[in-house]
Amino acid sequence: MDYRTAEDQVIRYRAFAGMVGEATNVGVTGDELDVYDVFDTLISDMSKAMPPVACRNGCNQCCYHPPLVTSLEWSALYPHLLNLSPVRQELLIEQADALRPLTKDLGALRRRVLGADRAEAIGDFSMQCPMLIDGKCAVYAGRPLVCRGYGQTLRISGDKSVFFGSNLAFAHMRENFPEDTALPLFDPYVDRISALNEASAGTEAFLPQWLWAHIENNAFVPEAIIRPAF
Ligand code: SF4
Repeated sequence: MDYRTAEDQVIRYRAFAGMVGEATNVGVTGDELDVYDVFDTLISDMSKAMPPVACRNGCNQCCYHPPLVTSLEWSALYPHLLNLSPVRQELLIEQADALRPLTKDLGALRRRVLGADRAEAIGDFSMQCPMLIDGKCAVYAGRPLVCRGYGQTLRISGDKSVFFGSNLAFAHMRENFPEDTALPLFDPYVDRISALNEASAGTEAFLPQWLWAHIENNAFVPEAIIRPAF
């Protein structure tokens, strides 16, 4: 792997972007046909050759915006949730219930996001993700794509590409990375999941909405529902 110059980096990123175009699943096969696997391999490939990004073990800076999750991502995440101990599942139910006063707001936001530019629609809406327990993601291995890419990628916005992450992470990069560092575009991975999700008649919703749709009689239902009535 060669990351010496920004040109080398862009060549590597393009190779991964090409690979994800061939991916057929999300979090199922754990190989080059799995969008998560391709993306995680890209990030681990980069991190061997470049300075560490601001994310550190226990950092949860990205967990205060409501993650928008596709049906395919929820299906990949749900088994991780069901594997948690009963005590942790109870805690997640409590945390999801504590957000129920936001039901209407999230419903309205979801309708706006599905019909408009999502970054603009989400704007400054913030809430702690109900999957956070003791400051850590309870379902880290199954977390959605947006949580995997935050703080280390670029997103296309109009005719520009902009850093996808917090101001703190951006400042960290400016300080610690060589000036001519290139970062990978996140869009090919997001687009691939959207295409696969659409092809499987999936939907999208915010993570608390998925949780609410899977709680019955104060317990999680035994299987992921692909298209709940949000
Ligand atoms: S799913 Fe996990 S990583 Fe993503 S926002 Fe929630 S707690 Fe953070």
